[in-house]
Amino acid sequence: MLIFNTRTQNKEEFIPSEPSKVKIYVCGPTVYDLCHIGHARSYVCFDVLKRYLIELGYRVVHIQNFTDIDDKIFERARREGVSSSEISERYINEYFKDMDALNIMRASKYTRVTEYLQKIVEIVEKLLNSGYAYRYGNEIYFDVEASGGFGELIKNVEEFIVDSIKVEGKRKPFDFVLWKFDENGFNSKIGRGFPGWHAECVVMSMENLGNEIDIHWGGKDLIYPHHECESLIAKALVGKRFVKYWMHNGLVLLEGRKMSKSSSKIYIREILKYYPAPVLRMWILSKHYRRDLSFSEEDLNTAWKKYEKIKRAAKKAGDEENSKTKEYIQEFLSAMNDDMNTEKAIEVVEEFSEKNLHGLRLYKIFERVLGIEL
Ligand SMILES: [Zn+2]
Repeated sequence: MLIFNTRTQNKEEFIPSEPSKVKIYVCGPTVYDLCHIGHARSYVCFDVLKRYLIELGYRVVHIQNFTDIDDKIFERARREGVSSSEISERYINEYFKDMDALNIMRASKYTRVTEYLQKIVEIVEKLLNSGYAYRYGNEIYFDVEASGGFGELIKNVEEFIVDSIKVEGKRKPFDFVLWKFDENGFNSKIGRGFPGWHAECVVMSMENLGNEIDIHWGGKDLIYPHHECESLIAKALVGKRFVKYWMHNGLVLLEGRKMSKSSSKIYIREILKYYPAPVLRMWILSKHYRRDLSFSEEDLNTAWKKYEKIKRAAKKAGDEENSKTKEYIQEFLSAMNDDMNTEKAIEVVEEFSEKNLHGLRLYKIFERVLGIEL
C-alpha cells in the first residue's frame, strides 16, 4: 500500500517496523464541547485507514488521547460552576456517542493527559537536565534551536512567525511551553502548574507504543505547531525520529473558511437528525482524505442518492461471480492501495451497481473497509 507521508511530501510504500503489526497514534479531541463535522471527517477517514490495514491482515494497535487539560475546559467549568473533570467526563461520553453513531471502531486504548502528568513532568526534567529546555519567568520552554530546529514537517518556518511571536517572555520566538507554573494548576515534583500541549502526545505515544511508531494521524491544522513540536521533543529525548509515516487529513470548510475560524460549528448530531450515518460517511469518503472538503447539503444529498443506488444493487446481488466481479474488486483494492483513494473506490462500486453486476463479495468488502453499512 502507498501512503502519502507529510514528512517527505511523497507517496511511499507502507512498511511497518514490525512485519504484521502497525502502531498508530491519533491526536484526539480537547473535550470541552460536542464533536463537529471536522472531527467526523478526521475520525471517519482514519477509521477507514485502520479498517483497510486490518483487511490487509495487519494487527493494528491504535492509541488515541483525550486532551482533558486545557483553558477551554477550565473556562467552561467556571461558566457552569462545575469541576473541570465533570466537563471533560461529560464530553468524553458525548464523543463516544457520536463516534459509535458513525460506526467508528474503538481505539485499542484511550489515554487522558491527567493520567500522564507525572510522566510529562519527568520528561520536562530530563529536557532541562540535557540542555533542551530552560526556565524563563513562570514557564519552562523547549529550546528549538538547541534541538536542531524545525524542519521535520514544515520547510519554511518564516511562514509561521506571525503566530509564534505573539507569545512574549521567552528567549526566542519559536520556543514553546513545556510547563507553566500556576498556583491553580496540578501538583507535581517541579511545582504546581499545567503541562504544555505538545509534550502530552509524545509522552502518551511513547508510554504506550515505544520509541518508534508507524503512523501518526491528525488534521492538517496540527502539522504546525503541534506535530512539528512533538517531533522535536521526541528527537531530543531519544535521539532519533519517532514517527515513520505522518498522515494528515484535509479540513472541512464552511463557506470557504476553516470551521474553527468561523462563528458557527456544525455538530455531528445535528447532521445525523437529517442524514443517516452511512450517508454522512459516504459524503466524507467521496473526497480524497487529503483534500479540503466544503460542507454542502447538496453534496450530502448526492451522497444519499449514491448510497441508495449501491444499497439497492447490493440487495439484488447474488453470490455468483464472473471475471468482471474480480476485475472490479481488484480496481477497488488498487484505489485503496493508492494512498487510500476512497473517492475512486466508491466510484468503482457505484459503476458496478449501475451495471447490475453480480457478486456480493464486492459489496461486503465495501461495507467492511469503508464502514458504510448497506
Ligand atoms: Zn496530539
